[in-house]
Amino acid sequence: MVFKQMQPSGFEQVVFCQDERVGLKALISIHSSVLGPATGGCRMWNYASEEEALTDVLRLSEGMTYKAAMAGLNWGGGKAVIIGDAKTQKTPALLKRFGEYVDRLGGHYITAKDVGIGADDLRQVKHSTRHVLGIEGEAGSSGDPSPATAWGVYNGMQSAAQVAFQARSLKGLKIALQGLGSVSYYLLDYLVKEGAQVIGCDIDPAMVDRAVKKFGIEIVQPDQIYDVKCDIFSPSALGSSVNAKTLPRIQSKVIAGGANNQLATPEEGYEIMRRGMVYAPDYVINGGGLINIYYEDPARGGYSRARAFEHVARIGQTVFEVLERSKSENTPAQLVADRMAQERIEKKRKNLV
Ligand code: NAD
Repeated sequence: MVFKQMQPSGFEQVVFCQDERVGLKALISIHSSVLGPATGGCRMWNYASEEEALTDVLRLSEGMTYKAAMAGLNWGGGKAVIIGDAKTQKTPALLKRFGEYVDRLGGHYITAKDVGIGADDLRQVKHSTRHVLGIEGEAGSSGDPSPATAWGVYNGMQSAAQVAFQARSLKGLKIALQGLGSVSYYLLDYLVKEGAQVIGCDIDPAMVDRAVKKFGIEIVQPDQIYDVKCDIFSPSALGSSVNAKTLPRIQSKVIAGGANNQLATPEEGYEIMRRGMVYAPDYVINGGGLINIYYEDPARGGYSRARAFEHVARIGQTVFEVLERSKSENTPAQLVADRMAQERIEKKRKNLV
């Protein structure tokens, strides 16, 4: 049953971790370690079933392989999930035990934060393993990933503009920004400085207030953001905001933003193409945070913001290549990105054997 699920996408390894004494039930999935150690956060979630947890860890670890490959990192894709309620079942003993399982993999899997696991939790994990990155506040840490993510989104947005409007500059463009949280806050700084006209929304009034006070942007109600006449629609809140209901309402030529899993289904990718729109694939344009953490790895000589941000800027070139190839192959950009990631992995695999 598990092999059946692992086989189609070529998963390398799944580790089942259990210790009843501390209440640990966890899964570590290594989708690919061809490019380097499988890296990806640990999620703690109250899954309805073990099958659901397995499906989630497989899906997430595969996504990390593609993201790391397109970010140009020598990292593979991995992920861990701990089954349980992060509010009531998380204990230092459980986290330390999880760390022991990570450690047994000898650096083949590197863990980090995800939903339900924060910096303090990672400190507990670190008692048992050094194969953990992204502990904000620790010496040598790369800190909050949002500024790096925003820098990547900004560079990717410029490339999307170049493809759609034949000019990289965002000056004078109207941008509808959905969500005014951490990534958007840093992104706004670049957009406003460049002279873009931003119209934003958020379901949290405090986030709206902050953006208006600092950047003086125009605001619409969350549901109205899809109807704003604009050049770029930028999903930067939750996933699946581009779906069969919203896509016909989106009036922009470009979709480019920081959110994960922006398209509800692959069908939206085809529909975007039919409408003559340009879509910067989410996991390519929002890879800045991952790149930032990469430079925290002691294997690269310790964190340097300058080196990390220089690498993040290359997201612009990658987005450009994806979009050009999408046009010439008449294939949705998301699929082109998947192909490019697979090609990089295959190339490396061939050199290995
Ligand atoms: P965040 O929680 O700080 O911000 C998200 C904002 O979206 C919040 O202010 C929330 O109130 C708002 N929101 C939620 N639903 C909304 C809706 N229906 N309409 C309008 N606003 C809504 O998160 P973030 O760190 O800024 O991340 C934003 C997105 O980018 C997420 O999808 C995240 O997974 C993705 N992402 C973030 C990073 C990073 O470095 N932080 C990296 C990669 C991807």
